[in-house]
Amino acid sequence: MSYLIDIEARLGSFSLKVKLDSEEMDASGVLALLGPSGSGKTMTLRCIAGTAKPDRGKIIVNGTVFFDSNAGICLKPQARRVGYLFQNYALFPNMTVLQNIETGIIGASMQDRMAGSKNKQYAQCASRKERREKAALLAARMHLDGLLDRKPGQLSGGQQQRCALARILAGNPQIVLLDEPFSALDEYLRDELMEEAMKTLTKLDIPVFFVTHSSYEARKASTGTAVIYDGVIRETGKTEEIFRAPRSEWGRILTRAGQDREAE
Ligand code: ADP
Ligand code: MG
Repeated sequence: MSYLIDIEARLGSFSLKVKLDSEEMDASGVLALLGPSGSGKTMTLRCIAGTAKPDRGKIIVNGTVFFDSNAGICLKPQARRVGYLFQNYALFPNMTVLQNIETGIIGASMQDRMAGSKNKQYAQCASRKERREKAALLAARMHLDGLLDRKPGQLSGGQQQRCALARILAGNPQIVLLDEPFSALDEYLRDELMEEAMKTLTKLDIPVFFVTHSSYEARKASTGTAVIYDGVIRETGKTEEIFRAPRSEWGRILTRAGQDREAE
C-alpha cells in the first residue's frame, strides 16, 4: 500500500499546501487528518477524490497516478475508485440494507465500463444472484446479517455507518476517505463504533484516511496522524508519538485538547 499526495491549491483567499507521503510515515493502518474546522481537511479529500482540482502537484495512490500537473494527468473521479464516506452516510432511504450495498457493486461495474477498464471483475458480477451474494457477504463482514431487509430509517446510527462502509467496500476501492465519520454518532456508542470500524478498515490493504477535528477521535482511532492547520500540514508521524511528544506548535495545541478530554 502506498500513497503520495503533494499538492497546492488556491480557493479564493484560502490556500492549501498538503504533503502526505507513505514513504515518510508508517503507512499501515489508518491515517487521521487532524485539524480544526476550516483547516482544509475536506478540501484535501476532495482533491484526492477528484471533485476538486489542485493547481499544482501530484497524487499517486498504489501506483496509480490520479493527478500530475506536470504530466497533464487528472483522472476523472469515477476512474479513481475512491471509497468516500460522507458525514451523513448518504444511504438511499427507500432501499434496504442489501439493496444499498448492491448499488456499490453496480456503481463500480458502471465505472469500469465508462472508464474502459480491463478489470472484468465487475462486469462478471452482473448477474443479480451474484450481486446479492456478494452484498450479503459484505453485510456479514459488517455484522449486518440480521438486518438485510431493513431500510436506513430502521437502523441505528452505527448500523447506518456500517451499511455505508459495506457499500463503499463493495466498490473495491483503492483508497478509503472518511470525512468526520463519527461526529454524527451518539457519544456513548462512538468509542465502540470507532473501534469496530477501524478493526475492519485496518485489515484492508489500502490507504484509509480519516478526517476529524477531534483529537480524542484521532488518538483512539488512528495509527498515524497528520496535523493540518490553515491549509498546511504541520507535522506527521505515528499517532502515539505525536500525542506523546508533538513537534509543532499546532501539534502541541491540538493534542493537548485530546489529553484534556482524556483526563475528564
Ligand atoms: P475543513 O474540512 O477542515 O473544515 P474545508 O476543507 O471545508 O475545511 O475548507 C477549508 C477552507 O476552504 C475554508 O476556509 C472554506 O471556507 C474554504 N472553501 C471550501 N470550499 C470552498 C469553495 N468551493 N470555494 C471557496 N472556498 C472554499
Ligand atoms: Mg470538513
